[in-house]
Amino acid sequence: MCVEKTPWELVIDFHGHTCPDIALGYRVAQLAQREMGIRPAPDSECLVKAYTQSCALDAVQVLNKATIGRRALIIEETQHHIYQFHFTGTQEIHQFTVSSDVLDHLKALQHPDLSPRERQNKVLEGVQYVLTLEESAFCQYDKIPGELRKL
Ligand SMILES: [Zn+2]
Repeated sequence: MCVEKTPWELVIDFHGHTCPDIALGYRVAQLAQREMGIRPAPDSECLVKAYTQSCALDAVQVLNKATIGRRALIIEETQHHIYQFHFTGTQEIHQFTVSSDVLDHLKALQHPDLSPRERQNKVLEGVQYVLTLEESAFCQYDKIPGELRKL
């Protein structure tokens, strides 16, 4: 029997491991898909601007097809988990700002002197936390007039 992979499985396959940051990116990518709706025109592209580089960006590459190779993923390092999504040809930027409480919570799960097993449990706890947290507590969503451009 041929079972199609879920979006989560596709993302984890591509990324190569499971971690809280890829869960974070997965959630942002899915919220973006929902808020952006369908592509406005066949030649319209989804561009993403991220304000920090992390594991999260691999989810955006898989789910939103905003890949590095096509220069559809723009990274400006500011250490902030802010993600902007834009369909070319529109005048709308969909911005997601991950709540600082979420980032603090994930940071608190990291401990230098944990055993590998304990560390693995904390990773799973972090993933679970990110995926099940109420949307309003997870991030702030803003629709901003404007556009993103490829570099
Ligand atoms: Zn990762």
